[in-house]
Amino acid sequence: MNASTTPQYGVPQAQDWNALSDDAFRALIRDDFETHYPVAQRFAPRRLRWSENHDWYLRMSAKGWIAPAWPVAFGGMGLAPSKLLIFFEEQERCGIARFQDHGVQMVGPVLMKFGTEAQRERFLPPILSCEHIWCQGYSEPNAGSDLASLSTRAVRDGDDFVITGQKIWTTLAHDATHMFALVRTDPDAKKQEGISFMLLDIHSPGVRVRPIRDIAGTEEFCEVFLDGVRTHHTNLVGELNRGWTVAKSLLGFERIFLGSPKMPEYGLLVLRSLARARGVIDDPVFRDKLVGLELDVAHLADSYGQYAATVARGENLGPDVSMLKIWASETFQRIADLIVETAGPFGALAGDVDFGQESLNPLATFYKARVPTIYGGSSEIQRNILARQVLDLPG
Ligand SMILES: Cc1cc2nc3c(=O)[nH]c(=O)nc-3n(C[C@H](O)[C@H](O)[C@H](O)COP(=O)(O)OP(=O)(O)OC[C@H]3O[C@@H](n4cnc5c(N)ncnc54)[C@H](O)[C@@H]3O)c2cc1C
Repeated sequence: MNASTTPQYGVPQAQDWNALSDDAFRALIRDDFETHYPVAQRFAPRRLRWSENHDWYLRMSAKGWIAPAWPVAFGGMGLAPSKLLIFFEEQERCGIARFQDHGVQMVGPVLMKFGTEAQRERFLPPILSCEHIWCQGYSEPNAGSDLASLSTRAVRDGDDFVITGQKIWTTLAHDATHMFALVRTDPDAKKQEGISFMLLDIHSPGVRVRPIRDIAGTEEFCEVFLDGVRTHHTNLVGELNRGWTVAKSLLGFERIFLGSPKMPEYGLLVLRSLARARGVIDDPVFRDKLVGLELDVAHLADSYGQYAATVARGENLGPDVSMLKIWASETFQRIADLIVETAGPFGALAGDVDFGQESLNPLATFYKARVPTIYGGSSEIQRNILARQVLDLPG
């Protein structure tokens, strides 16, 4: 970037956060989150909609805290890896509901690496101000784990690409203003080689968003039908037919967060509360199961700490980090199973159940624990990675 022409992105930072000690930075962030994040929204049992959590994220935007990982020059906080980890850990500790952050987590970093200056100037400021909310159009009905099989087509017509196909499982597409999508631009090339990375306005003619109701009764993700949708050729990111490289660049540092112990730790909190309410907390059979799970979570937290230290040193994570995701997600499921078992007949009831001292929702944790073994690469896919890339087993 040429300093003389650099636009002012986002809100200027109040100080150089990396100059603080880790402890001082943690205390500052924790104090802000604890003081200002609404208690009623902590540890929400489902993804919140933009209408429910926009106050918090507009506040973060106004403070210049919406993009902690982005460089200061692009309007981020410019946090070094160790500080970034602290920021995310404190968010999780306080139970802050994630927003539809694909713009911050994915589109921004991609445009910084592969975008043109014009794309950065056009798209980064509205991500920072939350004016644009992005969704991720990768998966299709016949392309999930095998994403490179995707068949949504984009054909050049004059100044535009015309996109036709269907995306599915698109998280919060009904709250999004824009979508970044992987589309096939060369049907004759080998699978990975004919794919491009494109940006489109979700309110364009030809886009139809249909929410999918899940087993918990909520509508977190959608089907998105694309019927002759036009997007200007300047919305192609990176080179034509090289979208796979762009998409792959997003699989990095953030993989560690899928293995964070926070979800199982939250599950244990619910389990202990429920056991007290059901009068089984001192039952030896229950305690045996509880302590087994507590030890598994403590062990996971220790392992996570070791990976976190690698990230904090600025080093890359190896494929063995897949183990962490399997461990975290499957331990969370075992805890959720014990929650339902401990709830007895109440384990089959939807919604909050009044247990006298407190009101709990045993099924919500059970539902919440279903999805992490699927998104971000299913458990089977993570096991394949471990088998092939770590254990060198025949594929
Ligand atoms: C909560 C949630 C949010 C999501 N949000 C988005 C989003 O915003 N945007 C988006 O594009 N996608 C999103 N997805 C989709 C997600 O990326 C896919 O569900 C995931 O990649 C799996 O693909 P699939 O559902 O087609 O299952 P499939 O790939 O059809 O897999 C079905 C089963 O077969 C197993 N399997 C598949 N291939 C292999 C193999 N080679 N070896 C062994 N077992 C295999 C899988 O592990 C799984 O158990 C989301 C999914 C969830 C659950």
